[in-house]
Amino acid sequence: MATFLKEGKTDSEIQASDSKVKQIVADILAQVEKAGDAAVRELSSKFDNWSPDSFRLSDEQIEKTVASVPPSVINDIKFAQEQIKNFAQKQRASVHDIEVETLPGVFLGHKNIPVNSAGCYIPGGTYAMVASAHMSILTAKVAGVKRVIACTPPMRGEIPAATVAAMHLAGADEIYILGGIQAMAAMALGTDSIEPVDMLVGPGNSYVAEAKRQLYGRVGIDLFAGPTEVLVIADESSDAEIVACDLLGQAEHGPTSPAALITTSRKLADETVLEIERQLQTLPTAAIAGRAWEDYGTIILVENEAEAVMEADKLAYEHVEVLTKDPDYFLKNMTNYGALFLGPETNVAYGDKVIGTNHTLPTKKAAKYTGGLWVGKFLKNCTYQRCTPEASARVGEYASRLCEIEGFMAHKEQADLRVKRYGNREKNA
Ligand code: NAD
Repeated sequence: MATFLKEGKTDSEIQASDSKVKQIVADILAQVEKAGDAAVRELSSKFDNWSPDSFRLSDEQIEKTVASVPPSVINDIKFAQEQIKNFAQKQRASVHDIEVETLPGVFLGHKNIPVNSAGCYIPGGTYAMVASAHMSILTAKVAGVKRVIACTPPMRGEIPAATVAAMHLAGADEIYILGGIQAMAAMALGTDSIEPVDMLVGPGNSYVAEAKRQLYGRVGIDLFAGPTEVLVIADESSDAEIVACDLLGQAEHGPTSPAALITTSRKLADETVLEIERQLQTLPTAAIAGRAWEDYGTIILVENEAEAVMEADKLAYEHVEVLTKDPDYFLKNMTNYGALFLGPETNVAYGDKVIGTNHTLPTKKAAKYTGGLWVGKFLKNCTYQRCTPEASARVGEYASRLCEIEGFMAHKEQADLRVKRYGNREKNA
């Protein structure tokens, strides 16, 4: 039986704050829909104290901003982008168009067609999330999206230079310094100054994630990627310093970022708690990470690996680090997670920033039905079909009877006409 040694906020407490966010988002989306650019400007002033002549950066501004970034930072960004592009290209190559003959003379196929335009949100309220630029923009470009636009908020009243450099190097066609719900609304609904897109992608805080959720249907979205979550699975062989460090590593994202430990070892659990207290004394972001751990930290003691898998699948967290003796057991048996990090040699920071897998990942249990952002999210799987005359007549007889059962008489006519045209004329005379 799993025992909770520490429990983060309950689902009902979380839902209560979610419903406040839902209302705020609905009101702001309605404002942008009604007043377009004027509402966007008013909201940007209100939430970000930001109202430049144009939210879109000109080529000249982009050039100047990129030039202000130290060459060593540009090199690091380029290294990260190479890794993300390389993996995305391999994933793209694994997606194939097909055409098969399923019955004599019946040819069915599918094509993977990229959406024509995508709006990428690159978060930046608390930290400059440079890496999100590679994750969304590069991936869209590798998938073949023609128009990729991107929005990021100002950073303490300034243009976030490193983020803009990453957006530009990743291939963004239009760059806007605009944040939050108003950015999502402007990209999805369009305004006089922003042409609307077919799809919204990228992570963000609760407001941004909820805006994406409410806009779904009017535009496509990648997935629900809200405040980050981390689960560490550990046993008696794990190093408590690493466990604590990796829990705080995600908790520092924001005060509502859940961090959980599932372990078979009570001793490791106790050591981790002490380590967290020790590390919080010197961590520069302790104010955020400490609050997240206090409010949203969870420790679950389990009896064995099978129970660890069961509890981990129930949590369905975004990031799951496995620091046990046998990480492959979890690779083989877990079914609900955004990304797995196997063994102490790798960690979430590698995945978030540089190693090559995408960091835009499902949160709030969305991992039960989706994986993270990848080229496939930008592709529409569209089918087509054709038949020889003989095949048409044969399929038509089945279709005619099946349409009649459902009462679709005009459908039946379509089928009957083909049977008459292409079937055996004597039989159909
Ligand atoms: P952000 O860019 O997502 O949000 C900042 C914007 O929020 C601001 O521009 C402002 O307009 C808006 N805002 C702030 N307070 C508001 C309010 N009261 N009402 C309406 N709008 C408001 O940046 P952030 O806040 O730093 O959050 C980034 C988030 O992205 C973090 O929660 C992080 O965990 C998450 N993230 C998730 C993933 C993932 O894949 N799931 C990946 C990276 C980051």
